[in-house]
Amino acid sequence: MAPHGRPLDELILTVLSQSTNDRNRDVAFLRLRERFASPAQPIDYEAVLAAPVSDVEEAIRPGGISKVKSARIQAILASIAGTARDPDEPLSLEWMRDAPMQESRAYLCALPGVGRKTAACVLLFSYGLPDVPVDTHVSRVGTRLGLLRPGAPFEELHDQMLSLTPPGQELELHVNLLRHGRRTCFARKPACEDCALARMCPSRGLFS
Ligand code: SF4
Repeated sequence: MAPHGRPLDELILTVLSQSTNDRNRDVAFLRLRERFASPAQPIDYEAVLAAPVSDVEEAIRPGGISKVKSARIQAILASIAGTARDPDEPLSLEWMRDAPMQESRAYLCALPGVGRKTAACVLLFSYGLPDVPVDTHVSRVGTRLGLLRPGAPFEELHDQMLSLTPPGQELELHVNLLRHGRRTCFARKPACEDCALARMCPSRGLFS
């Protein structure tokens, strides 16, 4: 999966992904695109920001809790516009491509409702920058494997995960842990008997 170079799309996608599944998230994003983009053009986020919040809410309704998400999307866009680095492109985040990681991460985490996981998604998936999103699957698998401290706050989990990731392997590690959590290391009844990592896992068999 190559970095796609669209940090604002990634940011909005993570808002749409809250409390829903991937399919509903994608439908909501598609609807936003249909409402606020010309054919074959990127979403006009300045139009999203300027629109009545009810228009945004209507567009993203298939993603669930659309009232909350539409307000959050506009709050994020307003915050970005209020700290614009390029007055000609007030909603551009392209400066992150070449900025120091810490600076970009701090900027993203200061946006309304944005935390380390969202920031890591934006940086990793948009530009391939070395950060690892720790979602519920990654934290569960990482904790069971003894890589992460049980009960650690998300900030610490992200720092831990990053410190043990070989440089350049951030995306692969994230995708593999996520896949393992979805396919084998289930939350309630992990399939330890079929797990390729069982030999090295201190938690094997504890949930049967
Ligand atoms: S052995 Fe069980 S608990 Fe450990 S990673 Fe595999 S499925 Fe998860």
